[in-house]
Amino acid sequence: MSIQTIGIIGAGQMGSGIAQVCALAGINVVMRDISNEAVQRGVDGIKALFERAVGKGKMTAEDMNAALARISGTTDLNKLAKADFIIEAATENLQLKLSILKEIDVLAKPGTIIATNTSSISITKLAAAMSRPREFVGMHFFNPVPVMSLVEVIRGVQTSDETVAITEALAKKAGKTPILVKNSPGFVVNRILVPMINEAVFVLQEGIASAEEIDAGMKLGANHPIGPLALADLIGLDTCLAVMEVFYRDFNDPKYRPAPLLREMVDAGFLGRKAKRGFYQY
Ligand code: NAD
Repeated sequence: MSIQTIGIIGAGQMGSGIAQVCALAGINVVMRDISNEAVQRGVDGIKALFERAVGKGKMTAEDMNAALARISGTTDLNKLAKADFIIEAATENLQLKLSILKEIDVLAKPGTIIATNTSSISITKLAAAMSRPREFVGMHFFNPVPVMSLVEVIRGVQTSDETVAITEALAKKAGKTPILVKNSPGFVVNRILVPMINEAVFVLQEGIASAEEIDAGMKLGANHPIGPLALADLIGLDTCLAVMEVFYRDFNDPKYRPAPLLREMVDAGFLGRKAKRGFYQY
């Protein structure tokens, strides 16, 4: 199956990043958001990144103009009817995603694969709401999309082998390395990463070492580019807590209990970089 046109729902951080890498790979992109402002913000963000790349000599102006010409922004969902592959990257909310997916299901061509970039919602559950569950798949990009190489391709129990193969091929075409994952809370990366951060908070809470020493330990001893507590500040402590709560609930396993200090920090409003204070001051 050759993918000429890709539809993207949501022009936020992730949707615009996905649009950018697909357009660079020579695919036409129709990117939809709910307001003209949101669409324009997404398109302007892509343009600014391209212009910076041209300024640094990493991209030619011709390539930039060609890639920008492949992207069209719209508020009209019907413009996605011609897409060969659609990626939903709207706000993380189950009811919102269900209503968007049902609308796309009706208007997309037969054979069009519908993917979601959700970080936490069950692919199997979303697939069950579709008339084409075999053509539904998780395609989880990482932030910032133009920089991060990984895509988790998540198969729900209903997803067909062909859908998986086409999604993996699309990820490669967009310059990414896919890994194949079964549907499960947190998929692979967040399942490993966020409990590691939570454990670092326990180590801090127990007074075993300072935040600086914990981070230096994991950088120098495990070769991580950033320590777990600095990473928590970057992700947002509220997000880390929310992910741990999903694991604790969905696996029904006390090994995923959030560190009390993590909850205490969130209650205090010390959410990390975005609040100028987390485990570090900014
Ligand atoms: P964001 O808030 O930057 O963007 C979401 C966009 O969706 C907004 O522009 C919003 O207006 C739009 N939207 C809402 N309802 C819509 C509708 N009905 N139709 C079209 N657009 C609609 O959020 P984001 O960070 O880009 O996250 C998007 C998705 O990607 C979420 O499911 C999130 O869990 C997932 N994700 C996020 C990250 C991350 O680090 N931010 C990483 C991987 C996956």
